Amino acid sequence: MKNSKIILPVVLSTVLVACNDESKPVAVTKPIPTPTPVPTQPTKPNPPTPLPTDNGELLDPSSRGDISVNGGATRLKKERSEALKASISNRNVKHVILFIGDGTSESEITAARNYAEGAAGYFKGLDVFPFTGAYSTYSLIKGTKSIDYVTDSAASATAWATGTKSYNGAISVDRDAKPQQTILELAKSAGFATGNVTTTELQDATPAALAAHVTSRKCYAPTQTSKSCPKNALEKGGAGSITEQLLQTKADVTFGGGGASFKDVAKAGTYSGKTLFDQAIAMNYQVVTDVKSMNTLTEANQNKPVLGLFADGNLPVMWSGPKAQVDGNKGAASLCTANPSRSSNTPTLKEMTAKAIDLLKTHQKGFFLQVESGSIDKRNHAADACGQIGETVALDEAIQEALAFAKQNPDTLIIVTGDHAHTSQIIPNDADSPGKTVKLLTKDQVEMTINYATSKDGSQEHTGAQVRTAAYGPHAANISGLLDQTDLFFIIKKAFGL
Ligand SMILES: [Zn+2]
Repeated sequence: MKNSKIILPVVLSTVLVACNDESKPVAVTKPIPTPTPVPTQPTKPNPPTPLPTDNGELLDPSSRGDISVNGGATRLKKERSEALKASISNRNVKHVILFIGDGTSESEITAARNYAEGAAGYFKGLDVFPFTGAYSTYSLIKGTKSIDYVTDSAASATAWATGTKSYNGAISVDRDAKPQQTILELAKSAGFATGNVTTTELQDATPAALAAHVTSRKCYAPTQTSKSCPKNALEKGGAGSITEQLLQTKADVTFGGGGASFKDVAKAGTYSGKTLFDQAIAMNYQVVTDVKSMNTLTEANQNKPVLGLFADGNLPVMWSGPKAQVDGNKGAASLCTANPSRSSNTPTLKEMTAKAIDLLKTHQKGFFLQVESGSIDKRNHAADACGQIGETVALDEAIQEALAFAKQNPDTLIIVTGDHAHTSQIIPNDADSPGKTVKLLTKDQVEMTINYATSKDGSQEHTGAQVRTAAYGPHAANISGLLDQTDLFFIIKKAFGL
């Protein structure tokens, strides 16, 4: 049904903040100022993406035109066999840029596309990859070979970062708690520059799993590590908390949140008695805390590594909107608004990605860079459709930044994927769902209902479906068909010639 009337959201809305996987969301009632709708333009065709000639062919998957006539909704512009054949290469790459959408599967991408680009539109980053496939994400039960069909981000990150399946909560250790070498550590030891970027806390599963090895994802800082990961604690002869290991692994560029953990104090070792922040300074890290200071950076290397701490916890999300509730789809449709509690001093994922590439590209040997949009997952847990969609759009914009680099630097492999599926589903607008629902007005000027039905009252749960994979550049053809997420480690390793 065509709906030409834009219905604005209610004036007061509940904004959810800071949802960790293990904790319930904290509800804070905040007034939302005069709504500033994000997508208000009627649907129009996206301009075609310019096609590169030297690094495979990017897609222009816009629909052809009138979606109501025969062939009008098709996205394929021409027969692609020859173009794909010509783009396939297994030559070694200099650069790998890996994008992870936390809790981002087909459902999250489709909902975001419908809202921001229209059902027949496409994302100029997320949707243009010539090779796509899917990977399985199951994890293991700790200490066993038994399968857990629903992974968390820690077991998932351990799998794609190290090639080893492990248990939920594991940070780059195997099912028996034995440390596994990560792709970032491997690339670094082979002389590549490295970068680790996220919109969440730096100690959260994805960034942590690239640079630390602990038995529980909770072990952010020394105090918690003594309790939850005693074998990893420095005072017990371990490698220390996630934050301490992040500092020691020393990627050339590390951007994200999680500043709070740096206030904790080391219990043993060279920096015993000092805060982890003081340790970073003593280790010659260039610490930046906002866009302005980030943009003053001119170099990032092992003598002068870069540490961006842009929030105490997770970075504030881009968009906000009404919270899903039981029978939420029976009310009026809403538009998403810019998050009023987000300041332009906080860098966007696109800005962090651009700066990280800028700093890493000067390294002769090349680089490995991981970029995570982490709060797609957090907002999914909180049944916050607008928060989730805004972070998916942010991921798309960051990918566009990387694609622009790859077009100029043909020896670049870009991989885009998620780490596990999640709860949100697009359901009929008149559905009588037992779950929590919210109805949004999309760019098509059509109502879309998003359903969250994996928890009655607590945090919404991950789900166990396979997750989309996509790639561009040499070795991209390997990201086709059905893979397991452990394949990612080996595909990247091979692409680097390691
Ligand atoms: Zn999660």
